[in-house]
Amino acid sequence: MANPDSELEELRQQAQILQHINESVISMDLAGFITGWNSSAERLFGYSADEVMGRNVLFLYADENDEDISFEDVFLNRGGREMEVRRRKKNGEVFWARLQLSVMRDEDGQPNGLIGFLSDISERRDAAEQLRLHARIFEQSDEAILITDAQEKIVSVNPAFARITGYSAGEVMGETPRKFRSGRHDAAFFEKMWQQLLDTGYWQGEVWDRRKDGEIYPKWLSIGSVRNSVGDITHYFSIFTDITDRKRAEGRIHHLAYFDALTGLPNRAQFSRLSDQALMASKRKEGFGAVLFIDLNRFKPINDTLGHVVGDKVLQETANRLRACLRGADVVCRLGGDEFAVGLFEIANREHAANVAQKLLATLDDPIVIAGRELKLGAAIGISVYPDDGMDTETLLRQADIAMYRAKQTGPDGLAFFSEDMNQRAADRMNLEAGLRRAIDRDELLLYYQPKVNIESGAIIGAEALVRWRHPERGLVPPAEFVPVAEESGLIVHVSNWVLEAACKQIRQWADAGLPAMHIAVNLSVRDFSSGLPARVQELLERHGIGAEWLELEITEGMLMHHTATVIAMMDEITALGVSLSLDDFGTGYSSLSYLKRFPIDTLKIDRSFVIGIPGDTDDCAIAGAIVGMSKQLKHNVIAEGVETAEQLMFLKSLGCDEIQGYLFSPPVPAETFAGMVRDGKRLVA
Ligand code: C2E
Ligand code: MG
Ligand code: MG
Repeated sequence: MANPDSELEELRQQAQILQHINESVISMDLAGFITGWNSSAERLFGYSADEVMGRNVLFLYADENDEDISFEDVFLNRGGREMEVRRRKKNGEVFWARLQLSVMRDEDGQPNGLIGFLSDISERRDAAEQLRLHARIFEQSDEAILITDAQEKIVSVNPAFARITGYSAGEVMGETPRKFRSGRHDAAFFEKMWQQLLDTGYWQGEVWDRRKDGEIYPKWLSIGSVRNSVGDITHYFSIFTDITDRKRAEGRIHHLAYFDALTGLPNRAQFSRLSDQALMASKRKEGFGAVLFIDLNRFKPINDTLGHVVGDKVLQETANRLRACLRGADVVCRLGGDEFAVGLFEIANREHAANVAQKLLATLDDPIVIAGRELKLGAAIGISVYPDDGMDTETLLRQADIAMYRAKQTGPDGLAFFSEDMNQRAADRMNLEAGLRRAIDRDELLLYYQPKVNIESGAIIGAEALVRWRHPERGLVPPAEFVPVAEESGLIVHVSNWVLEAACKQIRQWADAGLPAMHIAVNLSVRDFSSGLPARVQELLERHGIGAEWLELEITEGMLMHHTATVIAMMDEITALGVSLSLDDFGTGYSSLSYLKRFPIDTLKIDRSFVIGIPGDTDDCAIAGAIVGMSKQLKHNVIAEGVETAEQLMFLKSLGCDEIQGYLFSPPVPAETFAGMVRDGKRLVA
């Protein structure tokens, strides 16, 4: 028989255990009215036992018609059932719980209540829920997602990845993302990317990759690293979108924003940008710049009478002609209507802008033929000069605009500078140019000869032919005044022809008169130094019947800079004739020793600017010394020009310089005077 005492004791013990177990234990009768509530339930729900005893368990449900505990169901499950349910705490908070229900029976085995064991599983539910959510995002995202392990081996990609790259997941598993590289980025680019990724755990930017079909495309890429709890990187993920369309649109927008749709030329905004940049560069180099404001003359009547289609064609043709006239460094834009602007940023001097303007005017003066109709437009150009008239593009454009109006009103030639000073200078220059053109026809040019002497013997060894212009009003004009003008206007070709012709004629006379053969040097300009030169020189020698040992050509460093192979070939042809070459104004250019070695040059001429400072200026002395030393090494002859004093002579002699030319011995003199010096055996006395 059961001992009621020990039975009671057992029940008490069980009750105590119930109070201490971590699961909430709730018992109720068959109708759901609570009959037991342990301390864990108190903690979980926040209700004390007193508050809940006798109440129906339904009030703990989170939703009214949540899962209905059908007792039948519980019984059918052979006395128990487990489920996940939502319950509400006293403070209103809803949570997920795992509920295990069992049937309690009396001594006769009849059901008399239910007992529920309840534990909070919110955390676990949340985590699982989140995983499911993440998987959905991964699958459905429009952005491609790629995950690699710490060794950069691809472990997972999503459907968007396959869509964008053309690679299926199977094709890339185990590969590294390097497989997709386009070759557009250099090693430094990836180095920086990795550095930031390792430093901050994150990188984002634009990358050009290659699709499976080979196409290169731009993508916006974010990369991140994933670390485990001890800080080691376990994975990398990249998320990217294809931005091809966006870029294309951006490009179109950029073009619309910065270029004129009709002519394809930059518009005013772009012109300002480019021009401001170029002016900055000009400022650093202390160079000049100019802005030309161009306005077509008869555009409006043409546009009005012949219609916009013709008007548009006129503007397009104008744009083409302007472009064709300009060099790469120049900027041309359409300001609007029939107005254009040109920025010149690589000009040697201000006057040069007028030359370019003249060229542009000439090209716009040519009739434009549209549908068999000849349209004569013409233009006016206003010029403002940097830095004199303004330091920024807006100011320069304004001043050039003002000058353009002046050009329309006054200038028959359709050209005006903003500054009066420049207008005067330009006018002077144009007069000079016109005068020079006549001078060649009227035989106003003549040659002077400046002796060159050997330092050791003091004897005359040759002369430099220097051109002069006997101006009808101004007297003898020095070449420094008109040679640059002739060079810019193209007249130099005629001047040079005249000089070569005159020098050869003179040589012939001297040879006939019994003067010993010596080098008579003629200065050449860049324009003369072209592929036709060797043949021209040969023709001259033959026609005048003079030996090549009489002729020397002086060239400058600038002529050696371009197309070196062709230049060397040409120089070889000239020296093969027996004509010698000397490098004038040496030291003012950029020639280096190794560079010079490649050219067949006989003589280096130390520029006068270094001779002036000798022997007082240590820099000049050092430069002269270096040039002499270098010439010796290259086995070149070396001559100093502009030697005016005995001190300069002594110093040059001590350096080992071979020859001199300068006022110390003689200024340039007429041919007869020079011949007299040679005949008299005039010598340099130290
Ligand atoms: P360059 O070829 O360097 O000629 C030397 C210049 O220095 C000459 O000036 C000469 O008169 C001057 N000179 C010579 N000795 C002294 C001196 O002791 N002191 C000073 N202060 N000056 C001296 P020029 O004749 O006025 O010629 C100037 C430049 O014009 C020449 O420089 C040359 O570049 C150019 N040039 C002269 N004639 C021709 C020519 O026929 N064709 C071409 N293309 N250029 C020429
Ligand atoms: Mg010279
Ligand atoms: Mg010189």
